Amino acid sequence: MEVKLLRVTESGVELVATAAKTSDSALTRSANEIVELIVDNDYSSALEHIYFTFDVAGISVALSRELLEHRIASHTARSTRYNEEQGFGFYVPEGLKGDAKSVFLEAMKSANDAYTRLRKLGIAREQARYVLPMALHTHYILTMNVRSLINFFMLRLCVRASPEMRELAIRMYKICVREYPAIFSKIWCRGYTLGVCPENRARPPNCPFAGIIPVKRTLRRDFDKEAKRVIEHELKTSNH
Ligand SMILES: Cc1cc2nc3c(=O)[nH]c(=O)nc-3n(C[C@H](O)[C@H](O)[C@H](O)COP(=O)(O)OP(=O)(O)OC[C@H]3O[C@@H](n4cnc5c(N)ncnc54)[C@H](O)[C@@H]3O)c2cc1C
Repeated sequence: MEVKLLRVTESGVELVATAAKTSDSALTRSANEIVELIVDNDYSSALEHIYFTFDVAGISVALSRELLEHRIASHTARSTRYNEEQGFGFYVPEGLKGDAKSVFLEAMKSANDAYTRLRKLGIAREQARYVLPMALHTHYILTMNVRSLINFFMLRLCVRASPEMRELAIRMYKICVREYPAIFSKIWCRGYTLGVCPENRARPPNCPFAGIIPVKRTLRRDFDKEAKRVIEHELKTSNH
């Protein structure tokens, strides 16, 4: 997998500060302080003014399907209708060894053979492509604004994300934190970013934050009874 930055909005910190000052003309803080406040307090709409465009090569079609679930983004993928796929590259899942790896590689060869034979029989690419595997390498252009990127990192830097997705997220994160450290140094998975992990029982044993960042259920147990009383009081005393 290779991830390159194609374009990023220049002077984004100043741009976000200008947006914030348009909203609140009394703001006298520096641009960096404003961005810090916006990230800390999750006043995220101003962050939508900064865009990143990534060139992502050598990812699987399986990963591209997961990526497409991120709707607040612009996606362009290599077409299997317009491009020839004979001798295609493919993703090999982490940890495949011995017989398992042989079976996997045989399946890739078989798919490539079938595709090549269909093409030699005069079958169009748009028909022949249906024998191609999910592991097929594709090439992707992805544009996201910073608010959406934060949501992406919160979900996909979690150890529950698929290994290929997590690799992509880590590579993208390194670029983002290099370009805008004031924003992204405060961001990682949901647990780190929010200070509480919403995965609850689904938090896997290999989570590096276990014992450091609490899960939501544990915190909620401590305040739920009292907080529910507050809500009941709010409802009872409301004039609406
Ligand atoms: C560990 C993991 C496992 C997953 N497993 C599955 C799975 O088994 N099957 C599956 O289909 N997907 C799965 N997903 C994908 C997941 O359900 C989301 O589709 C994906 O992560 C995109 O997240 P998003 O909707 O927050 O992002 P975006 O689509 O970019 O949306 C960003 C934000 O915009 C808002 N938004 C966007 N669209 C709407 C809308 N229509 N209505 C209201 N608010 C909206 C939401 O606040 C959302 O968080 C998985 C994701 C993870 C991280």
